[in-house]
Amino acid sequence: MKVNSNFDNLVPNYLFAEIAKRVNEYQSANPDKDIIRLGIGDVTLPLAPVVTDAMKKGADDLAHKETFKGYPDYEGYLFVRQAVSDYYKSFGVSVGADEILISDGAKSDCGNICDIFDKDNTVLVTDPVYPVYVDSNIMAGRKIIYADCNKNNGFKAMPDENVKADIIYLCSPNNPTGAAYTADELKAWVDYANENNAVILYDCAYEAFITGDLPRSIFAVEGSRTCAIEFCSLSKTAGFTGTRCGYTVIPKELERDGHNIYKLWYRRQATKFNGVSWPVQCAAAAVFSKEGLEQIRENLEYYKENARIISAALDELGIFYTGGKNSPYIWLECPDGMKSWDFFDLLLTKANVVGTPGAGFGKNGEGFFRLTSFGDRDKTIEAVERIKNLLR
Ligand code: PLP
Repeated sequence: MKVNSNFDNLVPNYLFAEIAKRVNEYQSANPDKDIIRLGIGDVTLPLAPVVTDAMKKGADDLAHKETFKGYPDYEGYLFVRQAVSDYYKSFGVSVGADEILISDGAKSDCGNICDIFDKDNTVLVTDPVYPVYVDSNIMAGRKIIYADCNKNNGFKAMPDENVKADIIYLCSPNNPTGAAYTADELKAWVDYANENNAVILYDCAYEAFITGDLPRSIFAVEGSRTCAIEFCSLSKTAGFTGTRCGYTVIPKELERDGHNIYKLWYRRQATKFNGVSWPVQCAAAAVFSKEGLEQIRENLEYYKENARIISAALDELGIFYTGGKNSPYIWLECPDGMKSWDFFDLLLTKANVVGTPGAGFGKNGEGFFRLTSFGDRDKTIEAVERIKNLLR
């Protein structure tokens, strides 16, 4: 037998392993140092009470014959899909409950969606990039092209009519850069996709961090229903990184190559995925209740305030950055032209603060660095003070 030889084409991603190695080595040599981690992409605040109550009630249901639940519907229970649809309505976007599919998260959906597209499609990703888009398509043997995001375009790549892409991954607000597209910018991508018979795979896992009138969904943009699929997640919106629940939206009219895309994805999910558990779907629906939305807002505000604290320090130091305003990520230019890993070592050894070197997200990440606002408030304040003392 043979294995999938496309795996040989994956570039080993040492980023987080290398960070852990350097931090552990430093800590072992300096056991008295208090290291603060602002590199993590995981949340730290607990689930909202209304969410855990719903989860407990869901678990109790499973203990009784009358309320027991077996396999869920492949696309998720209607009351959860309706709750997501109503949530979209609350920010002015109309997507039907029958266009939403509940899943175990955006990472799986962003990767698994590859199953429904031909191997010979060309995939465009922006660089720097969330590695899942790249690796899933390398595993499937697809050609990947990169759209450069850099200081000149504010880390927001725009379509190039001379480039032919079939599948386009966009992430806004972006991981790692925190940059968020405006409606006009997204419209340019939508027009490109419709003109080129391409499909946009729009990852808005961080939409809940958007403030002001930036679009929180690609379906806020005219023309998107004939070219876009949207992935979202409760991981960052409501702290579900360990609980696992997300949703994918596919407009019923989205067709390519004589096929209805919703039907293909439904078929794929029905074949390889058996749904999200009852207690978790109950918890997910509770997120979108009036009380749930109020409670998750408190956690989101906490992270946003952390982001404001970090951004204010960078403003004070005169350091260029993107993100921090509509995103939990702050993507900063390393001072004095330093390379990402050199800056990592400097911060680790001189300020005992850990961040994520931008070079780990693609060639355009070199010279940049990611800090996150998902940490503890007091530690964030302390880390920022140390960074200011070091770089001032
Ligand atoms: N999409 C982006 C851009 C992310 O940064 C992440 C997590 O860090 C995910 C998706 C994963 O989401 P989930 O936890 O729903 O799988």
